[in-house]
Amino acid sequence: MPDARLIRAFLDPQHTALAERASAFADREIAKRTEPADDAAARQEARALLGVLGEGNWLQPVFDLDARACCLMRDALAEASPLADAVFALQGLGTTPILLGGSSAQKQRWLGPISQGKVMTAFAMTEPEAGSDVSGIATTARRDGTSFVLDGAKTLISNAGIADLYAVFASTDRTKGPKGISCFLVPADAPGLRFKGPQVLSAPHPLGEIALENCQVPADALLGTEGRGYALGLATLDRLRPTVAAAACGMAARALSESLDHVKQRQQFGKPLAQFQLVQQKLARMATDLAAARLLTYRAAYEKDKGQERITSEAAMAKSFATEMAQRAVDDAVQLIGGRGVLTSHPVDRLYRAVRALRIYEGTTEIQQLIIAGELLK
Ligand SMILES: Cc1cc2nc3c(=O)[nH]c(=O)nc-3n(C[C@H](O)[C@H](O)[C@H](O)COP(=O)(O)OP(=O)(O)OC[C@H]3O[C@@H](n4cnc5c(N)ncnc54)[C@H](O)[C@@H]3O)c2cc1C
Repeated sequence: MPDARLIRAFLDPQHTALAERASAFADREIAKRTEPADDAAARQEARALLGVLGEGNWLQPVFDLDARACCLMRDALAEASPLADAVFALQGLGTTPILLGGSSAQKQRWLGPISQGKVMTAFAMTEPEAGSDVSGIATTARRDGTSFVLDGAKTLISNAGIADLYAVFASTDRTKGPKGISCFLVPADAPGLRFKGPQVLSAPHPLGEIALENCQVPADALLGTEGRGYALGLATLDRLRPTVAAAACGMAARALSESLDHVKQRQQFGKPLAQFQLVQQKLARMATDLAAARLLTYRAAYEKDKGQERITSEAAMAKSFATEMAQRAVDDAVQLIGGRGVLTSHPVDRLYRAVRALRIYEGTTEIQQLIIAGELLK
């Protein structure tokens, strides 16, 4: 759990209470779950975790558009289980476009079952040729009477193959570049949507490719208006980037606590590792960097909750700093724990496999740095 004194300037009383409740829930119901052994088991476990989160109303912060509460949830879940964190995060990623751009009919239809964890969502933006440069999206959507017909391919999509509903980004007018991109709500059973297969990560995380082949959806699958998809996608990412930073903080906090437990009890050269100054230096750096990352994270979320329209720079700073920090912290933890730290059964090895992707998804560190510099040079 984040040190409440460190971030208290950014929290309201209900957030402080949520931090405690979320941390107790994660300890009680999430941390004890066994890590799935393979991709098929990870997919089942992701659905089971979504059920647990939905039943306990833990997804509510997403629907309240409460950035700080979402950060607190991810901080707590990531400390206990990176997969549980991913499940929470992806439900947020797939739902936020509906919250920001959906009609009342779309909200009425989808938000209830999504919040209960009965409908799992996915956010399908990335394509084989459109990664960091989202404006290169080549999937098309053309009007056909009262429907749209989508054609294209999406890759590296979390929840692909297990989601019930995809927010799909496609171009309705390729001559307009990013301004021609639209967002559609496509149910998994829509004719022409095909799960091509899983892309297996070293950490449990359901990922895969989908194909859209003459995929027909009714006109009311369009979110907002034609050409609004790019802005909707960027606004979603802007809002959720601080939560990626929060997940990184949760993983770094777990790395630090595992390290502390280990160095206090492990004896070498006749005394506990904790008494060696080189060990202490690592611990001090981990704790200091974690505190700095949390301040950036909750500052960005606070600015969003207090009504700042765009938190582009704040979110980019939080995401890039916290995810790079978490990578170093987890690596330090493995080093401090030694040989046992690289066994797949050890919590720090699980973190080591999980933390890497945070520096890549929802915009790489380099892209965050370009965003920050772009704001500086405006
Ligand atoms: C675990 C995981 C889950 C994901 N889930 C989803 C999801 O649910 N939905 C979705 O749509 N996508 C998802 N993605 C995709 C993710 O968003 C992309 O991987 C990411 O945006 C980077 O795109 P890319 O992999 O094509 O890399 P590229 O864009 O090809 O980048 C490769 C490298 O080049 C660097 N680079 C690119 N452009 C520049 C530049 N201008 N200057 C300097 N360096 C540059 C990048 O920083 C990176 O280091 C996921 C990815 C992962 C790993």
